Amino acid sequence: MNDWPIDTVNGVGDKVKEQLEQIGVQTVFDLLFYFPNRYENYEIKPLSELVHDEKVTIEGEVLGDPTVTYYGRKKSRLVVRIQVEHAVVKGVMFNRPFAKKQLTPGAIVTCTGKWDQHRLQITIEQYKKGKAKTNQPIQPVYYVKQPIKSVQIKKMMKQTIEQFGEQIDELLPSTYLMEYKLLSRAKALQEMHFPSSFQALKQAKRRFIYEELLLFQLKMQLLRKRNRESIQGNSQLFDAALVNQFINKLPFQLTKAQDRSLQEILQDMRSPYRMNRLLQGDVGSGKTAVAAISLYASIVAGKQGAIMVPTEILAEQHVASLKGLFGDEVSISLLTGSIKGKKRKETLLMIEQQSIDIVVGTHALIQEDVNFPNLGTVIVDEQHRFGVNQRKALRDKGIDPDVLFMTATPIPRTLAITSFGDMDVSQIDEMPVGRKPVETYWVKENMLTRVLQFIQKEVEDGFQAYVICPLIEESDKLDIQNAVDLYQQLQETFYQHINVGLLHGRLHNDEKEEVMQQFASNQIQVLVSTTVVEVGVNVPNATVMVIYDAERFGLSQLHQLRGRVGRGDAQSHCILIADPKGDVGKERMRIMTETTNGFELAEQDLQLRGPGDFFGKKQSGLPEFKVADIAQDYRALETARNDAQSIVYNNLLTNDSDYQALNQYVKQIFAEGEITFD
Ligand code: ADP
Ligand code: MG
Repeated sequence: MNDWPIDTVNGVGDKVKEQLEQIGVQTVFDLLFYFPNRYENYEIKPLSELVHDEKVTIEGEVLGDPTVTYYGRKKSRLVVRIQVEHAVVKGVMFNRPFAKKQLTPGAIVTCTGKWDQHRLQITIEQYKKGKAKTNQPIQPVYYVKQPIKSVQIKKMMKQTIEQFGEQIDELLPSTYLMEYKLLSRAKALQEMHFPSSFQALKQAKRRFIYEELLLFQLKMQLLRKRNRESIQGNSQLFDAALVNQFINKLPFQLTKAQDRSLQEILQDMRSPYRMNRLLQGDVGSGKTAVAAISLYASIVAGKQGAIMVPTEILAEQHVASLKGLFGDEVSISLLTGSIKGKKRKETLLMIEQQSIDIVVGTHALIQEDVNFPNLGTVIVDEQHRFGVNQRKALRDKGIDPDVLFMTATPIPRTLAITSFGDMDVSQIDEMPVGRKPVETYWVKENMLTRVLQFIQKEVEDGFQAYVICPLIEESDKLDIQNAVDLYQQLQETFYQHINVGLLHGRLHNDEKEEVMQQFASNQIQVLVSTTVVEVGVNVPNATVMVIYDAERFGLSQLHQLRGRVGRGDAQSHCILIADPKGDVGKERMRIMTETTNGFELAEQDLQLRGPGDFFGKKQSGLPEFKVADIAQDYRALETARNDAQSIVYNNLLTNDSDYQALNQYVKQIFAEGEITFD
């Protein structure tokens, strides 16, 4: 059914067929799923309900002969008086003098055009003699490229629905149709193109939103299941008592969220299938601590662990904090680009001999000559910084090790289950007790002097500050110029004993690392930077984060930047300098000053910006939906996910005849290779 060729539609010949191909339409179904991008409303409403300046349709009786006045060459204006209900409406039409012959006194006419409420006047764009056809008041408008026109599509669509409408089979199991009161597929298609009312259109959309999300989630769940079933036998059998002993020795008690996430991870590790889990949590929520315990379990099970991070500084910081947690009990080693020659050879040998338990490294970890004889668990930190291939290369270092991805960019649940639908997700959504939330202020630019005074005071008290500088439309060059200007300005402003540093994207990696090291060791007190400031870099002595032009950043990014401070014991401050013009910008500033929970912020960001912008253009990786909008339709998304899970885990596709059509469809998309396994 899905592959009826388009030229089986009456009236579609070779030429039209070619034009349709250009807009991606090859089959009858492609055409049927070419949905209108908007609708025009020719519904006749009472005069009292017409809205000023909107396009409306009225119906009435012509009163007397229209008058036509000419002006300029070929230009004319026709005025006709029309009796509508108890009022006389003035109809105005330009450059169509011949209409006068049609609009004879006493004739019934239907006119569509822009409404002027104050003058009771309509500027007629279209008119028709006779009563309005009330059975089809809502007309579709298709977005198309030349040479094909929207009206052509409309005609073809009508023909297609006439010809094939009765033959469109249902795809969804009747269970769901009844439970959610969804229109049938045939009925919904008809209503999408030629809605009988806006209410019916809404119902049709609702059906396709569910259908689209269910099909997507089905793919994800099938992938997940295949992943679990195809990879068996990597159970990591650790002695839980030993792991608990280790946890009890830690200088703190795990938060509830940490404990819950840890149990989810340990369960995956124990099980025969490969862990494929994302651990989300704000900076400082204790992800690394959870990762460390998981690695410890691996070691207890007689295996090795690896952590991959995006930068050398991060790798070094991880080694330091892991050593702090493990003491001498576990051997930890660093493997980065700057470890070369003899040292590198030695390290590689020790990894091979398994005299190293945990290796922390950058991309250097995935080079060919690095061999892990017995890799149990792999942790990828700041996972979005690595490409799919890099993550896969690391995974391939072991025979299907368990993999845990970590990110400090909280992703709203809706997006997480969309973009990482084949992953399991754990969230650490609370902070350890006793943390002081970063105090956040929003100021206008005229407060700058006071802001600088505040920085100076903090530095004199022994602390450090970040100053993130204006962002100009992502133009690298200008951003750098801004940073340089600001850097010079601050150098002049502050006393000599305050060292100001500069960090931007055009610096070499070595140079960047050097500046960061100087900041980390307090040789630099004020760091001016573009947004390249490394995610995850830990300078607990920094207590001030100033962000210029804060309105240009999204909430998630602001939150990320704010996460650079508040890592020590002292109270930290984040100052947003912004003069937002629009409501959205103001709203963003307000939210920032009111909440420090990353998950809450992420949800609000999604609502304000929509899913497309959330991750930024490049790394979105989000599927494109035709009708669904994951920011709006998150309830449907969750429902679809639950249903897909139940379908897959109860094997309903093959066991239940109600799911036969769906099963066929799924088989087909798998056969077409739309889904690939890495
Ligand atoms: P993340 O990796 O999420 O940024 P870390 O695991 O590095 O967070 O934890 C940040 C700091 O908080 C570390 O110094 C860590 O030792 C400490 N920490 C972790 N968990 C707890 C806890 N439950 N209670 C108190 N301190 C904790
Ligand atoms: Mg496992």
